[in-house]
Amino acid sequence: SIPLGYFGGIGAASKAGILFKGSNFLDVLREIDTVVMDKTGTLTKGVFAVQQVVAAPGPTGAAQDPARFTALAAALEAKSTHPIAQALVAYAPPASPPLAVADVAEIAGHGLRGRVDGQDVLAGNAKLLRKFGVAYPPEIDQVADSIVVVAVGGQYAGYLTVADELKPDAAQAVRELRAQGITGIVMLSGDKDTIVQRVAKELTISEAYGGLLPEDKAAHVERLKAAGHRLAFVGDGVNDAPVVALADVGIAMGGLGSDATIETADVVIQTDHPSKIATARRIAVATHAVVW
Ligand code: ADP
Ligand code: MG
Repeated sequence: SIPLGYFGGIGAASKAGILFKGSNFLDVLREIDTVVMDKTGTLTKGVFAVQQVVAAPGPTGAAQDPARFTALAAALEAKSTHPIAQALVAYAPPASPPLAVADVAEIAGHGLRGRVDGQDVLAGNAKLLRKFGVAYPPEIDQVADSIVVVAVGGQYAGYLTVADELKPDAAQAVRELRAQGITGIVMLSGDKDTIVQRVAKELTISEAYGGLLPEDKAAHVERLKAAGHRLAFVGDGVNDAPVVALADVGIAMGGLGSDATIETADVVIQTDHPSKIATARRIAVATHAVVW
């Protein structure tokens, strides 16, 4: 490979759309043995689309009308920047006049609660409903896709399935890192574990964890560090900033990434390509060759 001085290394990275915030991070990136990655927005496109709307079974009240609960959930999700929220808003654009939305709270790793058109509405995962003591049919835990469960007036109303896609170079990213001798490739996600394991299998990642809250992601990084690993964490979301800060090298996927994560990161990949994680490491290794 081409030997590069620190200046050359940072320059070569910059030409590839990779911003190193200091030459010291070239050294640390060379020394890592583990890469921990967020799923949504890092390995997948992070652009969800609604596939299906499924109403609660049994006697149907107004709240179980799919168009009604979809409109209530979408009005609430319009207050969020989460990629899943954007799918609902795109699927059910705001009514005119818009439904009144108040008292909105976004609960990390769960979803949203608020008052919409005078009713209490929850839109998020099953964990969110459990948190607010709303009963739901156990079948929804078996749905193969990511879902947004909706409750209206404290009653389960139904769910929407949403789907995301792998980025075209996600498998290449994993392959190249492994070829560079990175022995630990770990995927962490707040998404449902069944989906996380399916994606991991597709990408040949053997260590993957789903259903994680932001603090659980941090705990995994702490555990790996305590086991003696030197690691890079790659994330894009708002909730990823604390984990990015914990890693030996924090990497932000800047294409769709949140400002907080980009600010906290040591290295910013300015495009949507996870394969650039491997490019960044390759440049770090080449840079080291000339300095020493
Ligand atoms: P990740 O980026 O790893 O998917 P997040 O913490 O962003 O993790 O989200 C975890 C899970 O929480 C999502 O998969 C989804 O089920 C739920 N969730 C979070 N925010 C929302 C939201 N605004 N609307 C619906 N569901 C949400
Ligand atoms: Mg995320």
